[in-house]
Amino acid sequence: MSRIRSGTVPGVGLVHAPFSLLPAHLPEPFWKQACELAPIFNELVDRVSLDGNFLQDSLSKTRQVDDFTSRLLEIHRKMMEINKEENIRLGLHRSDYMLDSETSSLLQIELNTISTSFPGLGPLVSELHRTLINQYGRVLSLEPKRVPGNAASSKFAEALARAWTEFDVDSAIVMMIVQPEERNMYDQYWITKYLKESYGITTLRKTLTQVEAEGHVLPDGTLLVDGKKVAVVYYRAGYTPNDYPSEAEWSARLLIEQSSSVKCPSISYQLVGTKRIQQELANPNVLERFLENKEDIAKLRKCFAGLWSLDDEEIIKTAIEKPELFVLKPQREGGGNNIYGLDLRETLTRLQKEGGDALAAYILMQRIFPKASLAYLVRGGICHEGLVISELGIYGSYLRSKDKVITNDQCGYLMRTKVSSSDEGGVAAGFAVLDSLYLT
Ligand code: ADP
Ligand code: MG
Ligand code: MG
Repeated sequence: MSRIRSGTVPGVGLVHAPFSLLPAHLPEPFWKQACELAPIFNELVDRVSLDGNFLQDSLSKTRQVDDFTSRLLEIHRKMMEINKEENIRLGLHRSDYMLDSETSSLLQIELNTISTSFPGLGPLVSELHRTLINQYGRVLSLEPKRVPGNAASSKFAEALARAWTEFDVDSAIVMMIVQPEERNMYDQYWITKYLKESYGITTLRKTLTQVEAEGHVLPDGTLLVDGKKVAVVYYRAGYTPNDYPSEAEWSARLLIEQSSSVKCPSISYQLVGTKRIQQELANPNVLERFLENKEDIAKLRKCFAGLWSLDDEEIIKTAIEKPELFVLKPQREGGGNNIYGLDLRETLTRLQKEGGDALAAYILMQRIFPKASLAYLVRGGICHEGLVISELGIYGSYLRSKDKVITNDQCGYLMRTKVSSSDEGGVAAGFAVLDSLYLT
C-alpha cells in the first residue's frame, strides 16, 4: 500500500487523512479494560517521573549507544543538579493496545508521553462513522450508539486550559512546539480552536529553532517568546532526532526545561515514555516501587506483553531462532523504526558479533498477533478493500498542581487500522488509517 500522509505535501497541496469507511469491531470488555487502565498509567508516569535516579540508571546503557537518548538524559541530569521541581505537571498520553488472538488478551504496545497524535482527527472519524451508521445502519445491521463518543480534542484542550489556569497569568499563552514543515496541522488545529473558543486562550505555534531565536527566560523563571509570557509548552514535535537538526534546537529544549512554564511533557515525562523504561517497568517488583494499590498493579501487569532487554543471551538466541515471534525496537518514536522477521535475525546476529553495548540501543518485545478482518480503507479519495488489523489507543490526561491531582482521566480514543501484511502502524508515517470502534 502506498504511503500517503495527511496535511500538506509540497507540490501536492492538501491530502486528506486516510480513514476506514466503517468502525473496527471490539468486544466491550476489552474497551472497558483499556479505559480503566488510563488513570493508572497516568499516575504511574507521574510517580516514575519523580524518580530521577531510576530514569538515569535504567537508561545508562542506552545512553552509551544512542545519541538522542543521551542528549535527553543530559538535560534531565542538568535539571536534577539544580533540583528543578515541576509543581504543575501536565501529561497528555496515549496508551496503545492490540488484541492478541492467541491468548484473547489486550496487550499494550507502548505508552506515548510526548506529542501524542490524532486527538483532533480521531473524534471526527468517530463522528463520521456514527453518521454513516445512522444513515445506512439498517442495511448494515449496525447501531450508531455502539460507536463510543470521542471527546479527545476538547478534553485535551480542557487539560491544557486547566494547566494555564494553574499557571495563573492572564496575559500568558499556550505555545505549541511544531515541526517546520508540519503535515499534521489539521489535527493540532482542533486543540487551538477549543482553547480559543471555550477558554479564550491564545496558542502560539513555534518551532524549536524559533524558540531559540526568540525566547529567553527572565530571572523569575518566566519564559518569554516573541515578547509573550508562556504558561504552557505543548510539544507536537521534539520526539525524534530529526526535530533537533542543530545545537539551536537542543538549546531551545534546555531553555524551556529551565523555565517555570508548564511543560507537556517535561523531560522526565518524555523519558518515562521510552521503550527501555516500558521494558524496565515490566520487570518483576518494579511497579511495586511506584504504586501501592495491588489491584492497580495487577491490572497493569495483565496488559504487559513479553519485554526483554538485550543483556539476556538466552532470549537473543530464541529471537534469532524464531524472529517471527518478536519485534526489535530502538528508542524511537513516530513509527517506521522497528525491526521484524529476517531483518531482526540479521540485526541481532550482527550486533551480537560486534559485541560491546550496541545491543543496549534496543529492546525486544513479544510479537502480538491480532485477528485480521475485512475492511474498506480510504486513501487519497480512493477506497481499497483489504485484510486488516487494528490498534486501539486510549488517551489520558493528567494534571497535578503540587499535592493536588486536578485531572486524572481517560479522555477519548484512537483506533488505527492497517493492512495485516504491514508491520508498522503509524498514520502520519503512512502505514495505517484512522478508524473508530464498534462495541460488540
Ligand atoms: P512508535 O513509538 O514508533 O509508534 P511502536 O512501539 O508503537 O513505536 O511500534 C510501531 C508499530 O509497530 C505499532 O503501531 C504496531 O503496529 C507495531 N508493533 C509494535 N510493537 C508490536 C508488537 N509487540 N507486536 C505487533 N506489532 C507491534
Ligand atoms: Mg510511540
Ligand atoms: Mg506507536
